[in-house]
Amino acid sequence: MSCSHRAVIIITRDVRGTSSNLAASRTELACGKPDGHDGLHEDTAKGESWKDRGDTMTHILRQEGE
Ligand SMILES: [Zn+2]
Repeated sequence: MSCSHRAVIIITRDVRGTSSNLAASRTELACGKPDGHDGLHEDTAKGESWKDRGDTMTHILRQEGE
């Protein structure tokens, strides 16, 4: 059985002159490691890994350009 953890990376863009951020894009990730694995969750197809924060769905906010 594989790990059931999922994540969504939301890239935000600063809107000049306002305090709000626009969501520029979102990428959905699915961990491909075995159930109960150690360390970071990883979606090898998309080349992204993320830390377990206790939820099976993790939202990762990133500023565009980082
Ligand atoms: Zn995992």
